[in-house]
Amino acid sequence: MSQATDPPLTELRYNVKRLPFADVTEEDVRHFQNIIPGRVITDESDLRPHNVDWLRTVKGHSKVLLKPRTTQEVVKILKYCNERCLAVTPQGGNTGLVGGSVPVFDEIIVSTALMDRVIKFDEISGALVCQAGCILESLNEYLEERGYIMPLDLGAKGSCHIGGNLATNAGGLRLLRYGPLRGTVLGLEAVLPDGSVMNCLNSLRKDNTGYDLKQLFIGSEGTLGIITALSIMCPRKPRAVNVAFLGCEYFSQVLQIFTMCRDQLGEILSACEFMDAESMRMVQMHLNLINPLPDNAFYVLVETSGSYGKHDEAKLNRFLENAVDSGLVTSGTVGTDQTKIMGIWALRERITEALALDGYVYKYDLSMPVEKLYALVEETRVLLGAYAKSVVGYGHLGDGNLHLNITAKSHSNSLQSLLEPFVYDWTAKHNGSISAEHGLGFKKRDHIYYSKSMGAVHLMQQIKRMLDPKGIMNPYKTIPPMD
Ligand SMILES: Cc1cc2nc3c(=O)[nH]c(=O)nc-3n(C[C@H](O)[C@H](O)[C@H](O)COP(=O)(O)OP(=O)(O)OC[C@H]3O[C@@H](n4cnc5c(N)ncnc54)[C@H](O)[C@@H]3O)c2cc1C
Repeated sequence: MSQATDPPLTELRYNVKRLPFADVTEEDVRHFQNIIPGRVITDESDLRPHNVDWLRTVKGHSKVLLKPRTTQEVVKILKYCNERCLAVTPQGGNTGLVGGSVPVFDEIIVSTALMDRVIKFDEISGALVCQAGCILESLNEYLEERGYIMPLDLGAKGSCHIGGNLATNAGGLRLLRYGPLRGTVLGLEAVLPDGSVMNCLNSLRKDNTGYDLKQLFIGSEGTLGIITALSIMCPRKPRAVNVAFLGCEYFSQVLQIFTMCRDQLGEILSACEFMDAESMRMVQMHLNLINPLPDNAFYVLVETSGSYGKHDEAKLNRFLENAVDSGLVTSGTVGTDQTKIMGIWALRERITEALALDGYVYKYDLSMPVEKLYALVEETRVLLGAYAKSVVGYGHLGDGNLHLNITAKSHSNSLQSLLEPFVYDWTAKHNGSISAEHGLGFKKRDHIYYSKSMGAVHLMQQIKRMLDPKGIMNPYKTIPPMD
């Protein structure tokens, strides 16, 4: 990433006023040096990648990055920041897509990059206990060697941290099969803003003793404390994985394919994703990926995972024959070996990366009744006409989750005001959520009311005030301030 492509400072682009937190002094830096010697970063060029988000749309100007290794170090850091009223932004892999992971002003960045230890793994129950800074892909590799996998997978797996995944309640590609993190996370440890430790790090499948406090931290986006460790339930590694890639003419056919998948693949269906022709154009143009089925308006990626290869392959082939016979698909291909499977998955997983290379990205991550998913893309295209470089629709079909992306040469307030509130009004009108899996972060905070009642937001504000009375944790993000 070159500095020439940096966005303007968030405070200028979005006209934000700094809250009255203390400024970081040299004495503060010396204090941090005493807590974590050699792991206090103040050099401007080293700080730069931590001040700019993955999409290069927001930018802060933090002067200090801290890299604790242990929960006790996080305790000392937060206790001190709270006493001094210094604002803090927790950061994992900085792959978040809503501007939550970088400071807005000069918040101190606390990175989990060095908290990357597996604490224990139970080969009988599949419960993994690890620190929050473990990279998702590394955890998956660790588990694969032991016959297990992580219950979540996403395009950013090579960089995102498991703590960041929990903090955003990430969804991703395996949710259809293994369910959301709210079901697979067994326990969690977090450091609260005053430095106290919330230890709910057990590995029990069942535990009905009082409120389920870990759920408060899943999806809290760094606003309540720092997640330092977790316990998660991991499924067995499937013995057979197969992928089918199908081309269709109409979105109505995509929906019928989905119904057919659930009906005919049943228990072995592990993912069902859709992409439009524009998504494929992006990955071909910017990443030189080869689409094996050119000239279709829509594509469906179906993955099966099971324990008996021959059975699964036969089931998938029969499903394909039926789909072709019924005229729902115009063409199709199946991947049973690892290279072909990875090639097909890359077409879906790398769309986010291709879009970032196309220009400034206006990113919307919406959930709604599945039959409505593509109507919004079409209406947006008509609304924007030549204002947009491209309007792209793809997503997790099985979860009713649309990723609507609009690219333009650069950011413009006029294009933004065409899109908002249009997209949010449309989604709310169809009983959808304005954030299916990316969270609210900085960019979507004030739109929370489209998906949550005033009463619910008020309760969130009270919880935030109770746990973080000085408001030091990731300010300007996720929960609108109380008036
Ligand atoms: C190519 C690509 C594909 C993606 N695909 C998906 C997808 O399929 N599904 C999906 O849901 N998301 C997806 N994302 C978004 C992103 O990867 C996820 O939100 C991810 O979970 C963020 O993890 P991270 O470690 O990078 O967190 P960061 O980006 O560093 O932080 C995200 C938020 O969590 C907070 N945070 C981070 N760590 C902690 C912690 N230990 N304690 C408390 N708060 C913390 C931060 O303050 C911030 O608010 C994708 C992103 C990219 C770039």
